[in-house]
Amino acid sequence: MTDKNLFQRRERAFGTGAPTFYDVPLELVRGEGIYLFDSDGNRYVDMYNNVESVGHGNPVVVEAMADQQRRLNVHSRYLHPGPVEFAERLAALHTADVESVVFTCSGSEANEVALQLVRTATGKRGIVCSNATYHGNTEALLQLVHAPHEPAACPEIRAIPFPETYRPLDPDHPGADAYLARLSEAIDSLERAGVGFAGVIFCSIFANEGLPDIPDGFMSRATDMVRAAGGLVIADEVQAGYGRAGTWWGYQSTQLTPDVVVTGKAMGNGLPLAAAAASKSLVDQFRSATHYFNTCAATPLQSAVGMAVLDVIEDEGLIAAASEVGAGLKEALSERRAGRDWIGDVRGRGLFIAVEMVTDSATKQPDRARAVELVNRLKDRGYLTSNAGAYSNVVKIRPPLVLSADQARGFIDAFDDVLDHIDG
Ligand code: PMP
Repeated sequence: MTDKNLFQRRERAFGTGAPTFYDVPLELVRGEGIYLFDSDGNRYVDMYNNVESVGHGNPVVVEAMADQQRRLNVHSRYLHPGPVEFAERLAALHTADVESVVFTCSGSEANEVALQLVRTATGKRGIVCSNATYHGNTEALLQLVHAPHEPAACPEIRAIPFPETYRPLDPDHPGADAYLARLSEAIDSLERAGVGFAGVIFCSIFANEGLPDIPDGFMSRATDMVRAAGGLVIADEVQAGYGRAGTWWGYQSTQLTPDVVVTGKAMGNGLPLAAAAASKSLVDQFRSATHYFNTCAATPLQSAVGMAVLDVIEDEGLIAAASEVGAGLKEALSERRAGRDWIGDVRGRGLFIAVEMVTDSATKQPDRARAVELVNRLKDRGYLTSNAGAYSNVVKIRPPLVLSADQARGFIDAFDDVLDHIDG
């Protein structure tokens, strides 16, 4: 039975305001593959979690974790081949200029390292980000969240509108130009203010922004503009990477060419594991400036688990599968727009799909309440999603990569059920 007091106890134990999902929060007790089970024995299909990307309780990963922890786990001031091999394997998977890796325990820490990398290398402080982003929970990274709302409080940050085709910045001239003009202004403004321009940080697929379709040419021209201004490009792949977008890295699907790549979440399938990676010369400069050390990072445990995750992705062909199953899911969801003015847009890459709710297609006014309703009704039917995006009006579909085509069809049936209910 669900412990009715657990929520109240949690409010006291964690402090009020620690976020939960759904009208009635779920108490989960077990996970297996694509499934999650609650304390009443109900089974849910997980259409949301991108951390347990190779499946909940994946036996290969669990075995690697237990085996390494039993054998040895020490911090990184000792020599051990595991973390070295893992860094080499990770670097080899990148198509960007990546040779060396700084391991951390969270995406936030890895993005902090990335900021330090570009600031150390350029000797400048100014960072450009998007205006509806999230890169982590540290004081420096939260400036990227606050910059659009409190620019005066964030003198080293400039936020530009995230590039999108659905609500173009300049409706008379949709395309990349208007966004690139903003980027150029932001770079100039940092230089004029005396902090100088160190670089940009973008999620390669603008996941938190709502997974927009990006105007053609924006990413490649933005990269050129940043480099021409002496800056460096950070690709935040915490959500976009590890096959999520149907390619190893999100940047391969959006033509961003990063200098620094940040990965996390899926890397450890639940074990805290993240990384900032770049050319050896960039990482060398960072290491000599900071002597960075992170107690639980770059350990034999992290690398054993990280290698197991890579093995599963490769051995089970999960990236091709994500691309195929995701394409089918996106097509089926797009078909549901017919006759429903309030499903404004269906977008996505690989197994990451956004269904945007609006009041009507003419005004495109975001309808957060509709998204929340869909999410809760899908949960009632045994499918877990959430809402997200710049206006929180996007139903976010982002299952572990092991979702099968059959399970995707089951989700579409449940989605239809909810739509019928809403259509009345
Ligand atoms: N970058 C992006 C794009 C994220 O979505 C998140 C977390 N949702 C982070 C970084 C921070 O990762 P973590 O929670 O592991 O610190």
